[in-house]
Amino acid sequence: MSFEEHVKSEIRHHGPMSVATFMGLAVAHYYDSRDPFGAEGDFTTAPEISQMFGELLGAWAADCWVQMGRPSAFALAECGPGRGTLMADALRATRNLPGFHAAAHVHLIEASKTLMERQAEALNDFDVQWHVGLESLPVDVPVILLANEFLDALPVRQFQFSGGRWHERVVGLDDAGWLRFGLVPHMPEYPPKAQEGDFFETSPARRLFVESVCERLKRQGGAALFIDYGYTQGRGDTLQAVKNHKFQDVLEAVGEADLTAHVDFSALGGMDGVAVHGPAAQGAFLERLGIVQRAAMLARNAAPEQAAAVEAALTRLTGKDEMGELFKVMAFTVGNIVPAGFDDVQAA
Ligand code: SAH
Repeated sequence: MSFEEHVKSEIRHHGPMSVATFMGLAVAHYYDSRDPFGAEGDFTTAPEISQMFGELLGAWAADCWVQMGRPSAFALAECGPGRGTLMADALRATRNLPGFHAAAHVHLIEASKTLMERQAEALNDFDVQWHVGLESLPVDVPVILLANEFLDALPVRQFQFSGGRWHERVVGLDDAGWLRFGLVPHMPEYPPKAQEGDFFETSPARRLFVESVCERLKRQGGAALFIDYGYTQGRGDTLQAVKNHKFQDVLEAVGEADLTAHVDFSALGGMDGVAVHGPAAQGAFLERLGIVQRAAMLARNAAPEQAAAVEAALTRLTGKDEMGELFKVMAFTVGNIVPAGFDDVQAA
């Protein structure tokens, strides 16, 4: 049975499913059945565009570690590591920092068996442990956690105000057996004031994930950094499917396209006792970490073509009309850590 048939059969047996359930199933199938990255794949991410991205995040993590008093053991964790490129670049960039590699135990949170294999290849010089969720991370050491384009893959619920009341958007079948969006009345009705057509998304999965990370930080110490395509205000339908670098209908070729929804950074929450930094624009964040200087150094030692590629990557990662503004960065820290790359200054 194809994956699409499987989804249809679920709906036939159990009735329409929420957008969140649909997204969870489709995303899991998608990543488990392929390596989707790069020019020949469906989409490209920052660490695949340039080594500078992972290098600077490695420097960010190392700076946190130094501020934490150089603990002799800590979990260097990454959520949704894709091909393992970010972590490999981060580790290479930090290998000359005395004590850092000896202290860092690499933990990868990954649901896809296919991508775990890619990560093992990229990190074959390191002792790596995999986890399907946060629960099995060690509980007795501080944690420094990185996550690029991870939260956007976690499911969203969608709600629409229609015919004078709130509904939840669901995926069902039409008479001809095609997947179709529909609405079912939602209880309790919230928010109270609404106009016909109003639409919003929530993501209990993301909120829970970030809360669990914050709990860990509080108990164990450390810092977490989330980077994603996102927004802080406005609402609407941000669910999108991308295949072969092109947008396509969300209900077409189910499980064969990358399905994401933009991250509402204002709704990620946090926790008493955990400091929140940002969201900052990715471009400004990377510039504060020194990406312009790093690019100049790489270009100086490169052949002209490679130098042009470094320049192009810099523009892609930091440009206002590229990833520089659309992508946002948010950090959570405990203790006295002042994370690099944010312009907020914490009281001592
Ligand atoms: N961070 C990488 C890959 C981003 S794609 C990069 O920037 O290139 C999303 C990643 O999250 C993939 O590795 C995917 O398999 C993983 N993923 C998606 N949903 C997940 C879930 N619920 N639990 C764990 N990993 C998940």
